[in-house]
Amino acid sequence: MFEYQAPEGLLENRVILVTGAGDGIGRTAAITYAQYGATVVLLGRTTEKLEQVYDEIESAGYPQPAIIPLNLEVAVPHDYDTVAEIITREFGRLDGLLHNAGLLGRLGPLHQYDPETWQQVMQVNVNAPFMLTRALLPLLRESSDASVVFTSSGVGNKGRAHWGAYSVSKFATEGLMQVLADEEDGLSRVRSNAINPGATQTTMRASAYPAENPDTLPTPEEIMPVYLYLMGQDSHPINGQVLKAR
Ligand code: NAP
Repeated sequence: MFEYQAPEGLLENRVILVTGAGDGIGRTAAITYAQYGATVVLLGRTTEKLEQVYDEIESAGYPQPAIIPLNLEVAVPHDYDTVAEIITREFGRLDGLLHNAGLLGRLGPLHQYDPETWQQVMQVNVNAPFMLTRALLPLLRESSDASVVFTSSGVGNKGRAHWGAYSVSKFATEGLMQVLADEEDGLSRVRSNAINPGATQTTMRASAYPAENPDTLPTPEEIMPVYLYLMGQDSHPINGQVLKAR
């Protein structure tokens, strides 16, 4: 497991947006960031799930979060501008952005891969993080220490048969992260890195490996050290890297 013990209050006074915050790793990351003092903006497509995370954060006494419902599969550039406007109006700042939302699509050989599914996966996993980053970059650049964290995968730098659009989208995610990291290097205080969570006990993992016993896998809570590390200033000046959660 990635070794890091976050100090209490690591993320105090920081505003952090988490995509796919209603379930799986994103849900746990949002709650964990709030636990360490961040004001968390919960973005996702299923409002009821986001409300449950909101309630959990509020009842634990952590900083009051905010909810922005958005379906990344159908969102257009204007929607991302609206996200930036809401954050500017409500908080006036943004210090962290966790691109966590992801779609697995269907596993199968390329010659049988459904083109519509291909486009959905690329839209949620690649185009949406690009458009969201683009819209939020002006706000992030105003932060004294901004961290953008992308989510890759074990199939994001080595292709694997039958992983189709998902694998290709994670290669693109790492590319997007590297381009951003290189562009902002020396220009702003925006750092950009990616996490490869590794096999983790979530709904996505269960749909990729239905026969696997989930109890053999780490929970999202167990992989949080690297998520805290990259979002806080202890990881300064790491930029353009992919870190493994374990
Ligand atoms: P998950 O349990 O399926 O959660 C994915 C999250 O993304 C959900 O909150 C989901 O929202 C959201 N999402 C999906 N499509 C969306 C859309 N169109 N608009 C907005 N939100 C959308 O998956 P996970 O395992 O936590 O995965 C989190 C990230 O880790 C992903 O990027 C995944 O590729 C990566 N990853 C996971 C593993 C693993 O073993 N779990 C391994 C490597 C990489 P709903 O709840 O509304 O569906």
